[in-house]
Amino acid sequence: MNQIYMDYAATTPTDSRVVEAMLPFFGEVYGNPSSLHAFGQEARSAVEDSRARIAAFLGAEPAEIVFSSGGTESDNFALKGAAYANRDKGDHIITSAVEHHAVLETCRFLEGEGFRVTYVPVDGDGTVDPASVAGAITDRTILVSIMHANNEIGTIQPVAEIGRLTREKGICFHTDAVQTFGHLPFTVDELGCDLMSASAHKLYGPKGVGLLYIRKGTRIKPFLHGGEQENGRRASTQNVPGIVGFGKAVELAGASLAEEAARLVALRDRFIRGVFDRLDGIRLNGHPRQRLPNNINISLESVEGEGMILSLDMLGIACSTGSACSSSIAETSHVLTAIGLQRGFAHGSLRFSLGRYTKESDIDAVLETLPEVAGRLRALSPVYAGKK
Ligand code: PLP
Repeated sequence: MNQIYMDYAATTPTDSRVVEAMLPFFGEVYGNPSSLHAFGQEARSAVEDSRARIAAFLGAEPAEIVFSSGGTESDNFALKGAAYANRDKGDHIITSAVEHHAVLETCRFLEGEGFRVTYVPVDGDGTVDPASVAGAITDRTILVSIMHANNEIGTIQPVAEIGRLTREKGICFHTDAVQTFGHLPFTVDELGCDLMSASAHKLYGPKGVGLLYIRKGTRIKPFLHGGEQENGRRASTQNVPGIVGFGKAVELAGASLAEEAARLVALRDRFIRGVFDRLDGIRLNGHPRQRLPNNINISLESVEGEGMILSLDMLGIACSTGSACSSSIAETSHVLTAIGLQRGFAHGSLRFSLGRYTKESDIDAVLETLPEVAGRLRALSPVYAGKK
């Protein structure tokens, strides 16, 4: 069976050139980067090369990059680290209703620690209005965390505007750029952020490695305690092969970023046009234009997303749904709830995310399959049958 992977937002395959760059750092260059001898120094220099390359890509200083175990750790580090470091200044945090769980659950934890959190709403396209961030700021606000682009519906947030207003007020600004780093062109100065999270496995790098950008002068407490690695900011022996792979992945992404984004936009729009031509009772979730080049999130009226995923999976097509199953009840995703999706639509949402190996023929094959699968499931739906 020909398999078609359209879940690049969940993770990407590690590029073979990345694997090749990593391989020597398992068995040949295996020193601990903190060791003073030649074995250690060789590993250290590979880590520092990667740091310098990634920093240059972001328009940052190498010392502003702290490697971590991934996006989740970077988000935890950013929020807890900045909250505790600024506790003497205030106790109020602002975030949005559509953040990744790595941010939302960290905020819930911080609420338990005595911090207050405002979750600003989004509009029907999933966009945060900078005016609502401005309106939520009080003299107790110490941190604002708004993601660069949403992982479910692909909406790109006006982070530069939000960065300008936090800068004016001297408030720390974190952005979760896990879905945009290596996919959209930007520097940290263009985003106007003090803290930024990224993860290697979303850009054809290995899993289990990420980074937190920390602008020079930002107050932040360490998250992991132990050795003095990463300039005393993150204890633990560095994941040398992972960091080398991350650097290679960034080099590859940077070499073709604009062309790849344009190619994906064309594929994405072909998919969206095709789906609207072939199916009724559907809607596109997320901003029609301010969206990730690779994201398609559609809702099919009176269809269960899980049923669609499983049926498509049996045909070799991998995509994902906006709802997460908790016990036996399919819960509507917090993102789809936040954009005000009606019940009939919210359960039938599907996310197709495209990537480096997606071809036009893959799009056409999925477009051919979708109407038949949706039709079969709709035929079983009493609600949909009643509408016809
Ligand atoms: N933030 C966003 C927006 C994400 O999409 C993800 C992963 O899906 C994460 C954070 C977590 O990243 P990681 O899987 O590297 O922990």
